[in-house]
Amino acid sequence: MKMIMSRRLLGICIWMGFVSLLRAQTDFTHMDLEVWPDTLNSAIHGKVKLRFQAGEGTDSIGVNGIEMSYDAVTLNGTSIPYSSNDKALWFAGTEVRPGENQLEIEYNCQPRKGIFFIGWDDASGVSPRQVWTQGQGIDHRHWIPHKDDQTDKLTLDIRIHFSADYQAIANGELVSRTQEEGGTSLWHYHLGKPMSSYLIAIAIGKYDSVQTRGKNGVPLTQYYYPEREKDYSWYYAHNEDIFNFMNEAVGMEFPWPNYKQVPVKDFHHGAMENTTATIFGDFFLVDEVAFNDRNYTYVNAHELAHQWFGNLVTATGSDHHWLHEGFATYYQWLSERNLYGEDHFDWLRWEEAQLVFEASRSDSVPLGNGKAGSYRFYQKGAWVLQMLKDRLGEEDYKKVIQHYLQKNAFGVVNTDSLNSSIRQVTSKDFSGFFNDWVFTAGEPVVKFRSTVKNGIVELEYIPVYMPFESIPLRVKVKHEEGATFSSFVLGSEAKTFKLNPAGNKISYWVINPDMEQLMSIHEEKPYPFWISQYEESESVIDRYLAVKGLKASSEKGTGDYLLSILENTDEHYAVRAEALKQMKSLSNEKKFNGYIAYALRDEDVQLQKEAILLVKDPDKKLLKNVSELRKGRSYILRNRALELGIDVSDPEANRWLYDDIYTSEPGIPGRKVEISALFYRAMLFNDKEALQTLKLRTSQAYDFITRMNAIEAMSVIGYLDEEVCGYYFNALFAYNWQLRRKASELLKSYYAHNKSKKVILQYIENHKNDFSDFQKRVVSATFELNTD
Ligand SMILES: [Zn+2]
Repeated sequence: MKMIMSRRLLGICIWMGFVSLLRAQTDFTHMDLEVWPDTLNSAIHGKVKLRFQAGEGTDSIGVNGIEMSYDAVTLNGTSIPYSSNDKALWFAGTEVRPGENQLEIEYNCQPRKGIFFIGWDDASGVSPRQVWTQGQGIDHRHWIPHKDDQTDKLTLDIRIHFSADYQAIANGELVSRTQEEGGTSLWHYHLGKPMSSYLIAIAIGKYDSVQTRGKNGVPLTQYYYPEREKDYSWYYAHNEDIFNFMNEAVGMEFPWPNYKQVPVKDFHHGAMENTTATIFGDFFLVDEVAFNDRNYTYVNAHELAHQWFGNLVTATGSDHHWLHEGFATYYQWLSERNLYGEDHFDWLRWEEAQLVFEASRSDSVPLGNGKAGSYRFYQKGAWVLQMLKDRLGEEDYKKVIQHYLQKNAFGVVNTDSLNSSIRQVTSKDFSGFFNDWVFTAGEPVVKFRSTVKNGIVELEYIPVYMPFESIPLRVKVKHEEGATFSSFVLGSEAKTFKLNPAGNKISYWVINPDMEQLMSIHEEKPYPFWISQYEESESVIDRYLAVKGLKASSEKGTGDYLLSILENTDEHYAVRAEALKQMKSLSNEKKFNGYIAYALRDEDVQLQKEAILLVKDPDKKLLKNVSELRKGRSYILRNRALELGIDVSDPEANRWLYDDIYTSEPGIPGRKVEISALFYRAMLFNDKEALQTLKLRTSQAYDFITRMNAIEAMSVIGYLDEEVCGYYFNALFAYNWQLRRKASELLKSYYAHNKSKKVILQYIENHKNDFSDFQKRVVSATFELNTD
């Protein structure tokens, strides 16, 4: 025991020493990976050939590899002595010839990360059966021994041996698919341009596909489940438009030989931009109704943008991660603007800015920091690029991005690479910009109060939080002769500014027009100016802010005015929704219910969704409008309509529970509506059949969102038997962490009660001999039990 311990320790020390050696002297250039996925044991048998360039005098090489066993290790075709532990494999003391070498490793592993075996444990045959991968940041070392470092780029060959009944998809181009003995196929994919290994992808499953081409001839393949063919045009909506737009917007042709998109079950994230092979969660396989609740279109654009930003040019480390997510999010915004117009773009930027401010309220980490979190990497990153474009101008910005991509193509970048491209293209110094927006935490939070005297506006500026030394701010003043702009500089001192556009009568003014600066602004303005702002501005944000401002001014007649906004149908739903919300405190309940009913009848499904959330205790009249939405154009609407009907014991709603629309429609995503109906049937009518169906929905036959919804419903019912216990334990061992957490919470709460504790202990007793080591560890940790 002691000896093993010291050998392991020694191993780690030597390995640590080699990391620097390896960085200095070896460059891995090509990976040839061959795998035989074993679905029975969720295991991988593999062979990997790693080509590398070695410097003079190299006699040691190490690669990452978590909990693997090795069958053979050769260097340039000759067996060599090697060492390994549960984190790495390395050799030392074997002379490596200068120049090109090949290290070949044959290995076995049973990974819990990096590659996932889905649905093979579902005896019912309902679940799709898949094998798929997810590598970011360093998870591929769990199933491929290699130098798992995003700064080292490789070309690829991937060979997959698997049952010929399935499709196997991987990075690059399919070179060949050959039939093998015993009913398997060998798929061989090749990618001749270098990329980081975290972007390696394999997806195996039963798929059909649609093949199209971009304007530039790039082959595009969209995979889907055969049974979901009829909704193809919803989940892959605008696919080719997005691709063609992206090539133009980026200003550089798609840098890879093809582009594929593959849905998979129980994906932990939304999607992953693996080079040429994006993998996304099948919860995006929406139908026409679910499209209004959640859709893949924006994700499609986001992952595609990564093929340039992240895959072609890759950040050196997590402190520069915003160069991946900020760019992908920004080009996704631009793609949405292209599809849905300026108002959509403005509203998106506004909403995303609120998320950035939220992040700044909880901690003060700058964007250029590995711990910045999603709202900064994605939303703030995109905002910073929008501001950069504003300052550079459209033309120069595009030249800068082209320079940045071309100069660093197939290489690595950091924030300074972008700054350096700006310097080289425009001769301008943007160090101050990056210092403020990337390396300084927070955004300005400011207040303005205004008074108008003799045609002159006095703006009183009150800084609440000013992270920068100063920031320029423009104010747009609208007057009888048109519009003029005044520029001011805001610092950490309160100040008063005057607006007086050459004696013209001021109609209204907008601080920070078109959201030029990412700053949180609270403004008080006299009532008539809000009215003019609402009536005259073409910007959805200006109109939205006017509606918000109106209420604060508490002028008589505000309620009527807000009603007119709702009724006169402002072009954007968010403005009307805000008017409706403001009316709550300005009217009695009966009147307010009438306004909600009006909004529920609106043609815009997004306004209907906002309105139904405001329904609390519906009277008969309002309930009638709610009822109509049980067939609404959104599952959120349908579900809420059902819940509200049941809440007030509407006999009509009780009948819906047995209606086809609720029982046969999967209610994508996560069968939310169906699960609500089953839940109410089981709870209200003690319906055994509904309970049994609900039990099955917690099983591995279904996707993780359905299972979590069903587990939630079952936990309210409080029913536990041996069968359900088995499904919960299966969920407790799942790859998907959200499902795992849900099952763990529920089982722990059951375990605290004597009656259900017995069921759990009995289940463990009956099955402990079948538990794997991993499962034993999970059970021990969850229930503080020894399972041996
Ligand atoms: Zn992303």
